[in-house]
Amino acid sequence: MSDFDYDLITLGAGSGGVRASRLAGGYGAKVAVIEESRIGGTCVMRGCVPKKLLIYGAHVAEDLEDAKGYGWSVGEVRFDWPTLIANKNRELDRLEGIYRNILRNNKVELIEGRGRVIDPHTVEVNGRRLTTKRILVAVGGWPMLPQIPGISHAITSNEALDLPQLPKDIVIVGGGFIAVEFAGIFRALGASVTIVIRADTILRGFDQDIRADLAVELERKGIRIRRRTEVQSIEKQGDGRLSVLLTTGETETCDQVMYATGRVPNTKGLGLEEAGVALDPRSGAVKVDAYSRTNVPSIWAVGDVTDRINLTPVAIREGACFAETEFNNTPMSPDHDAVPSAVFSQPPVGTVGLTEEAARARGKVDVYVTRFRPMKYTLSGREEKTMMKLIVDRATQVVIGAHMVGPDAPEIIQGIGIAVKAKLTKKDFDSTVGIHPTAAEEFVTLRTPLPDPEEA
Ligand code: NDP
Repeated sequence: MSDFDYDLITLGAGSGGVRASRLAGGYGAKVAVIEESRIGGTCVMRGCVPKKLLIYGAHVAEDLEDAKGYGWSVGEVRFDWPTLIANKNRELDRLEGIYRNILRNNKVELIEGRGRVIDPHTVEVNGRRLTTKRILVAVGGWPMLPQIPGISHAITSNEALDLPQLPKDIVIVGGGFIAVEFAGIFRALGASVTIVIRADTILRGFDQDIRADLAVELERKGIRIRRRTEVQSIEKQGDGRLSVLLTTGETETCDQVMYATGRVPNTKGLGLEEAGVALDPRSGAVKVDAYSRTNVPSIWAVGDVTDRINLTPVAIREGACFAETEFNNTPMSPDHDAVPSAVFSQPPVGTVGLTEEAARARGKVDVYVTRFRPMKYTLSGREEKTMMKLIVDRATQVVIGAHMVGPDAPEIIQGIGIAVKAKLTKKDFDSTVGIHPTAAEEFVTLRTPLPDPEEA
């Protein structure tokens, strides 16, 4: 008999927490997962999934425009935002049901409420104290908004996914993943969109050609990007519209202001510091080692709350490694190297491995770039360029980075990610026969590197 009520209590039923809990439950552990919001967490309820459904909806607008070039005459079309939101919500309800079943089928007890760590082996929820051998913190992150006057008038991606009406015009602050994805959704569906960034361009941390080419495409679609600009204050006017005062002295008037200025780990008020768990003093992230162990031997943390790589599949991997190590006697640590990722902007971005800047900082590289108009836009006349780029270590000829902006980039880069992970060489790419006609084949037909700026 265990001395504890549970073998594992997980705080947070998001991607990482559910994966860890259900594996542990499947291995015979007595597990409870505590969740204060909807089951599925950020990705399924407030992030990746609902966002992607809206992106599919937004793409229909482009397909309708492109249809003419292929001989279709499309009559008057109308878009109804409430229908899209209602259908999206129905799908989320279905997914939440699936998540509940997954937990039930693995004998994981779901406790709905806000959990709080009392000491290294005790968690409090709904006024009850439960003891546990291990605690897994998987509470994710939450949008961070700078405290400027009138910030309470702003929304975040949480509310943007459930607006009752499509805004006529929206100001989006920030130039990261979330900002460019929502800019694409709102613009395609007919809103006037202005992105306000304090930097020179969007997508800090991405390869320079991705950043530059995507900015061109967003602007081509009519999204305004106000660079080197910050918001000073937001005021609600008598007519309900918002007046946004910028550091340039100008004012933007709009229906909605959305902040996408990053996310912070959800550790406030969780009792972690009191229980002795070390947090990053700047971000509040739970500090963990390669096995997701905190400095307190009975407490682990996975996913966005640890602020390592804040992506769903990474959280899932971290959760799985924890469960395998602790409940299946198979020590495993997640591999955070060459993790592919995507930005579901319009056009989308796919990326894996090093950026050109990071690669050059390491040593000599050969860089291959191609730009072309996707074949599917030749008849429709759409002006949009695809960019594909390979970065090759000159000494070993190993492909160390692959980047793409263009239709299907996330789908294509997922495959290229295997090659980069496997450390294949440019010769391996060249000896692969392309599939014709596709955009993807360009990745195996890139022949001439760009002149090296350092040798010019
Ligand atoms: P990001 O960290 O990607 O971007 C934050 C943006 O906000 C940057 O452009 C940054 O500017 C700007 N910013 C930060 N603070 C301020 C400020 N005080 N005033 C003005 N601008 C500011 O955050 P997101 O919110 O877009 O996304 C959070 C995370 O969620 C991502 O990092 C990613 O891990 C994950 N995510 C992944 C997705 C995917 O995989 N497709 C989709 C959505 C989210 P600057 O560049 O100047 O610092």
